[in-house]
Amino acid sequence: MIGVDIGGTKTAAALVGPGGQVLERREAPTPARSGPDAVLDTAARLAADLLGGAGTGPVGVGTAGTVDPATGSIRYATDSLPGWTGTPVADALAVRLDRPVRVTNDVNAAALGECWAGAGRDRAHVLLVAVGTGLGGTVVRNGRVEAGARGAAGEVGHLPAPGAERLRCGCGRYGHLEAIASGTGLAAAYAIATGARITGRAVADRAAAGDRVARQVVDRAGTILGATLAGLVALLDPEVVLVAGGAAGALLPAASAAYWAELPAGWADVPLLAATLGADAVVVGAARLAMDGPDIDGGISG
Ligand SMILES: [Zn+2]
Repeated sequence: MIGVDIGGTKTAAALVGPGGQVLERREAPTPARSGPDAVLDTAARLAADLLGGAGTGPVGVGTAGTVDPATGSIRYATDSLPGWTGTPVADALAVRLDRPVRVTNDVNAAALGECWAGAGRDRAHVLLVAVGTGLGGTVVRNGRVEAGARGAAGEVGHLPAPGAERLRCGCGRYGHLEAIASGTGLAAAYAIATGARITGRAVADRAAAGDRVARQVVDRAGTILGATLAGLVALLDPEVVLVAGGAAGALLPAASAAYWAELPAGWADVPLLAATLGADAVVVGAARLAMDGPDIDGGISG
């Protein structure tokens, strides 16, 4: 199966084996500034390269943005992909690749990947959060991604978060969890504390190197994330909570401590784990989406 990952900075495609293992992988920068057609052309080229003209089977795609589960079009996307909102990704790629294309949000795809071949393997009920530049989330129930009414269920980033009152969320409002527990949030909190403007990754690096202020920023973000996840366990009753994304490693120590401290007694055996597929999670999950077809929520075309 072929899975494709369309992100704001890079696009990847992979040939994925029957056990969820990546057999071959292609990657290219996403030409985001050149507009949706150029982004679609890049995704199609990478997938076609792996397909080599073989077969007519479906291709799966995980993409940044909210995906309409009925059509595979983008309902909403941030400025990381200019003009992406409204793009009929499933239809446009189906034409380019001459086969059915199934599309879901990239965090949903990462959850499908982790449940197939990663830290959520053999689990039917999973909460996954992805901490990268922003903060995304997905709920897997009975082995299926919970789409919600508009393909946007599980977006934990917009829950209120104590301590985030002065920080602006990616949605434009203040005080949300994403505004503090994300790469953008780490950068903003560090800038407020020190006046220095560095990336979230640099804040995490400085924390690891012993910078006291960076350590406080990272620990506070992790603590609020962990406490929030503990509350969500009571709401969703998952078997496991997974933390994925580039900032997961930095936030997990403080997040784990707060999580275990706050977890309600009835859920004391629900583990908080690091996701294990890393940069392959989205392509693996997208391949799974292609394999399982319309029984897994995701936009279908072709
Ligand atoms: Zn928000």
